[in-house]
Amino acid sequence: MTSTITKHHDVVVVGGGQAGLAIGYQLAKQGTDFTILEAAAEPAAAWRERWDSLKLFTSARYDSLPGMEFPGDPDRYPTRDEVVDYLTGYAREFDLPVELNNRVRAVRRLNDGYVVELDDRAYEARQVVIATGPFQTPFVPPIAEELGDDVVQMHSTGYRSPVSVPDGRVLVVGGGNTGFQIAEELSASREAHLAIGSRQTPLPQRVLGRDLFWYLDAMGLIRKTTASRIGKLMRKREDTLIGSSPRGARRHGIELHGRAVGAAGSTIGFADGTDLDVRGVIWATGFRVDHSWIDVPVFDEGGRAVHERGVTRSPGLYFLGQLWQHTRGSALLGWVKDDAAYIAERIERRAGEHDEHDSRSFPHRRRGPARGARA
Ligand SMILES: Cc1cc2nc3c(=O)[nH]c(=O)nc-3n(C[C@H](O)[C@H](O)[C@H](O)COP(=O)(O)OP(=O)(O)OC[C@H]3O[C@@H](n4cnc5c(N)ncnc54)[C@H](O)[C@@H]3O)c2cc1C
Repeated sequence: MTSTITKHHDVVVVGGGQAGLAIGYQLAKQGTDFTILEAAAEPAAAWRERWDSLKLFTSARYDSLPGMEFPGDPDRYPTRDEVVDYLTGYAREFDLPVELNNRVRAVRRLNDGYVVELDDRAYEARQVVIATGPFQTPFVPPIAEELGDDVVQMHSTGYRSPVSVPDGRVLVVGGGNTGFQIAEELSASREAHLAIGSRQTPLPQRVLGRDLFWYLDAMGLIRKTTASRIGKLMRKREDTLIGSSPRGARRHGIELHGRAVGAAGSTIGFADGTDLDVRGVIWATGFRVDHSWIDVPVFDEGGRAVHERGVTRSPGLYFLGQLWQHTRGSALLGWVKDDAAYIAERIERRAGEHDEHDSRSFPHRRRGPARGARA
């Protein structure tokens, strides 16, 4: 251990995005002593890193965390800034103890709990929830290094608006929702191309006047678990385009290409042997998860967290907000509450077992006072 333990909490939540806030709401309601450690200087950090014109693919009806409705017309598609405002207001409304500017550097086991290490200090916690997000480290394929300095290139997290990209021909690499949306925005002001590595099934955002998620919810599909037959099938085809399609992109004048497989100078080569000269490249090529700072044996050989609905084999250590943690909704604004309620219930149960053990073995010990328990 590198730092001195300065504080003790029953529960430490790592990450103050929507998942961290949703579990914070539940813990506050229980009267649990907890804190939320957030690396960024401002709330809703992941949303702030997304491009200016981003509109949610889920309508406001499906964007609420527990206890607070997403404001406004439930059938509209909120903007990035509305989500930032909503999450900021949510933490304030329930007085959730979010400690900003506190990046957790390590989590290790200590006795029958954990030590959570920060740069300058460490916290001891009986239980820890890892809510650091499903989209963490921007991934850019190695071919990016072969592009010359005169080509402006950035990952989608660096893209804000067309102003961020030089005039001239631009290529967006990545055929997911992000790639399609950014290419469509750029196509209004310049020659835009889109490289699609693997085709995703396009789904309309609205069907017969209703939001797609209304159908997924009504048919129970959004809550099909990873263990169910339908859940397994859906997970295999997890990547779906919502509201965008190759046909729609062509209507915007976007030229479509296959997978980008090579680069040299200002030229990008595609899998079919064609190539394209470009002034700018946006890598909408996704993210990798980095859990290397969690020094607890709960990962498989590929570094993936092993858990059942977020509960790991290390007692008192949980994940929340992961893609398909339990259902398709696990990493979405409107459904993370289901897993949050489940984990909160597990936390309370374990705390109760501890209390029983403590009061039998150490009659003078009591649980710490509740924080942020206004909800
Ligand atoms: C482009 C895009 C569009 C999306 N659109 C929608 C949509 O329309 N509807 C929808 O429901 N979902 C959408 N999502 C999916 C999902 O809702 C978001 O990814 C959401 O941000 C996930 O919330 P989270 O709390 O799990 O993780 P995050 O929002 O990523 O929050 C994790 C937090 O943990 C912090 N953190 C990370 N590491 C540490 C550490 N070591 N110590 C302390 N803090 C740490 C980060 O700073 C961050 O604030 C979208 C995702 C993307 C990428």
